[in-house]
Amino acid sequence: MEVLKGKTASNGIAVGKICYYQRDLWRKKQFRVIDTQGEVNKFIKAKGKVEKDLEEGIHKGINKKNLSLERKILQGKSFVPSIISMIEDESVKVSFALVTIRDQIKENFQSKLDGKMEEFCLGVESLINRFLAILGDIKHKISFGNAPVILVTNEITAKELLEMDREKILGIVSYSGSEISHGAIIAKEFGIPTIISITPQPIWHGRLGIIDGNSDTFYIDPTEELVREFEIRKLNERKEREGLLVYREVPTFTMDGTKINISANIGNLEDVKSVNYYRSDGIGLFRSEFQYLGRDSYPRESELFQAYKQLANAMSGKPIVIRTVDLGGDKKEDYLKIPKEENPIMGNRGIRLCLDRKSMFKEQLRAIYRASVYGDFSIVYPMITSVEELSQLELINKEVQEGLSRRGIEFKKIKIGVMVETPAAALIIDDILDMVDFISLGTNDLAQYTLAMDRQNPYLRYKYNYHHKAVMKLIKIVVEATKKRNKDLCLCGELASDEKYTEELIRIGIRNFSVVPSFILTIRKRILEINLEEATK
Ligand code: PEP
Ligand code: MG
Repeated sequence: MEVLKGKTASNGIAVGKICYYQRDLWRKKQFRVIDTQGEVNKFIKAKGKVEKDLEEGIHKGINKKNLSLERKILQGKSFVPSIISMIEDESVKVSFALVTIRDQIKENFQSKLDGKMEEFCLGVESLINRFLAILGDIKHKISFGNAPVILVTNEITAKELLEMDREKILGIVSYSGSEISHGAIIAKEFGIPTIISITPQPIWHGRLGIIDGNSDTFYIDPTEELVREFEIRKLNERKEREGLLVYREVPTFTMDGTKINISANIGNLEDVKSVNYYRSDGIGLFRSEFQYLGRDSYPRESELFQAYKQLANAMSGKPIVIRTVDLGGDKKEDYLKIPKEENPIMGNRGIRLCLDRKSMFKEQLRAIYRASVYGDFSIVYPMITSVEELSQLELINKEVQEGLSRRGIEFKKIKIGVMVETPAAALIIDDILDMVDFISLGTNDLAQYTLAMDRQNPYLRYKYNYHHKAVMKLIKIVVEATKKRNKDLCLCGELASDEKYTEELIRIGIRNFSVVPSFILTIRKRILEINLEEATK
């Protein structure tokens, strides 16, 4: 048995087979194409095969009713033209067009489902799956086999994790990263135990491993006794988590009756399920840039609009704060063609990149405004450092709204906020507050830029500190200024999920926290124990 020490980035226990993962194994993209005619031809060819399969099935009398329905949909007036026009109009791969049309149909009929419509939707789904099986184009990009695994890798990015089948990942062991890296934040969001700072070895592949997040330890080839012990500990951990479920139904007040809001940070649409499961007060931070990663081209306005509308429907009127894309830095993709930078974390990222790429930015704003009639949306801009940026943003925002009005598209007024995540923004907070409705405190980056320490750098993992005195000083400046102006402030960096500091943060005046969904109940439980009338211990 080998016992290795690392650093826990996402807590928990995992026991399972090790899968040694190498990035190059899984690059398969499915989005934008140049040869649209080629895609249409692929679709026509697959259609011939699907027709033949359906005829043969009907002829044999197997599942005749369902197959006849599928044939009827395929031969109907709209199915084939809608796929072809989506490929041609949006220059997408046939598989992407199929999946998008399937989701649109499902969404349109979801609220009107009676027996007949349900049958129709199932027919569409089965027909489209038939095409996808022939085209073989949409797959998870890494195959872990049937049983879930402990992924062992040199480095894993948030983008890669979002592309994987999370049900198959028991835990992650990696060399690079830190507790505050976006990969670790997504691992926490998914509830995947993760240990960093361990050098991976290909020869571990297929062997048994145990991750113990409580002691920063990774075991390889553990003894049977140890496996049994950890299986029991895992069970206890689950019971403990289940014990927290009583706090789902409890309103969040301190003992002296101060109301605190707890919202959720998410980076992907699927996580809206856990946002609701843990009874979050809303989405305090939607990291929208993850929709731009793991693909070959920019998402189009229609795709973003559908996603935001879906988010609004799932949140049933609760507030949703969309952060406009925070690309650049560690969040890049080939198609974005972000020039190589010597120091990307200090580079052309966040709002700076958006102001350079106005058409990309406007597409996103249009999509948010179009979705605004379906839910309670706010917009927050990342990486702001000056009021000049805010003036430019006001103009762009106005142009977007005027464009929508000209086209007769309905939208609602949306609150505008700023991520205070640079010392510059914290120090000019009064000027910023003159121009916006609310503030989101991004302490992950605020600490990174205040301390001049790359938050992802494994060598700085014991030095980077989001509770450093200097960071706390800046936080206090921002909280005081925001209070004075009677504007809202939400703390959405990882500091908000750290129960060690919950009381201190509430005492300095923070009333809104936004945390990874699985931390909502821990923080709620902690808040219920706090009595602001007692002197600080
Ligand atoms: C932050 O910087 O604190 C933040 C919430 O944004 P991100 O972690 O995505 O940079
Ligand atoms: Mg940030």
